[in-house]
Amino acid sequence: MAELINGKELAKKIREGLKDEVQELKQAEIYPKLAVIMVGDDKASKIYVRNKSKACEDVGIEYEEYLLPEKTTMKELLDLIEKLNNDETIHGILVQSPLPNGLDANEAFRTISPKKDVDGFNPINVGKLSLNQDCFVSCTPYGIIKMLENYNIPIEGAHAVIVGRSNIVGKPLAKCLLNKNATVTVCHSKTKNLQDITKQADILIAAVGKPKFITADMVKNNAAVIDVGINRTEEGLIGDVDFEDVEKKASYITPVPGGVGPMTIAMLMNNVVKSAKQQ
Ligand code: NDP
Repeated sequence: MAELINGKELAKKIREGLKDEVQELKQAEIYPKLAVIMVGDDKASKIYVRNKSKACEDVGIEYEEYLLPEKTTMKELLDLIEKLNNDETIHGILVQSPLPNGLDANEAFRTISPKKDVDGFNPINVGKLSLNQDCFVSCTPYGIIKMLENYNIPIEGAHAVIVGRSNIVGKPLAKCLLNKNATVTVCHSKTKNLQDITKQADILIAAVGKPKFITADMVKNNAAVIDVGINRTEEGLIGDVDFEDVEKKASYITPVPGGVGPMTIAMLMNNVVKSAKQQ
C-alpha cells in the first residue's frame, strides 16, 4: 500500500516558514504584495483566485484583486499590467488563465515584468528554467519537486514519466526534473503505446485533465505517483489517477484534493516572498 504524500500538510509547513520571512521583511518596511488579475467570471478560476487570496491572508502577504469584465480589450489588460509593473509596492503579478476568447494569454504573460512574474510564465523565466538558471519556477512543477524532496523520493537517476505537455505543468516540470538529473520522458495525446512507457516510470506524473486516466495496469510496482489532475465531476473533485487501485501498487501517491493543489498555492506564496526580497 502506498504512502500518502500529504500536500496539504506540507503546504501548511511551507506557509508557516514563509510567515516568519514575511515578518522579517515587514520589520525592514518591505510589505510583500501580490496583484491578481482575473478577466470574466470562469467558475473554476474564481475558486482558484479565492484560494490564493486566503493563502496571502494566512501568510501575511498583501493582496490586490483586479476583476475585469469579460469584454475587456487586450489594450486595457496590457495597460493594467504595465501600471502594476511600474508600481513599486507590488512584488508579484498574476494573470489568472484561462482568459476569455479574443484575449491572448501569452501576450499578457510576456508583458508581466520577469521580476514580478511569480507564476513563471514569462518567456524570460521559461528560458532561464531551460538553462537551469535562477528564476521564478512555475508553481505546480515547483510544488511537485518540493513534495518529492520532502518525502525523500530519489529524483537523480530516476526515470520520470510525465503524461501531459502543457506550458503550465508538463513542460516546465520536465525541465525541473531534468535539472535535478532525472531521466525524463514526456507523453501526450499523440504518444504511441502509452502504457509501455508509463510502466517504466519510477516517478509517474499525470497532468492530463481526464478523471482516473492512469489505471493500475499503467503503473510499475513501487512507483511514486503524482496526480496533478483536478476534474470536477458529479462525484466531486477527481484526479487523473485511479487512486483506489493505484495506491495498492505504488510506493507513494498524492491524493486529490489535498495533494498538488495546496502545494501550487504554497509555491506561489514562496515566489512572492522571493520577489519581495529581491526588489
Ligand atoms: P492541458 O489540457 O493544457 O494539457 C493536457 C495534456 O494532456 C496535453 O499535453 C495533452 O496532449 C495530454 N493528453 C490529453 N489526452 C491524452 C491522452 N489520451 N494520452 C496522453 N496524453 C493526453 O491541461 P493542464 O496541463 O493545464 O492541466 C492538466 C490537469 O491538471 C487538469 O486537470 C488541470 O485542472 C490540472 N491542474 C492542476 C493544478 C494544480 O495545482 N493541482 C495546476 C494546473 C493544472 P496534447 O498536448 O497532445 O493535446
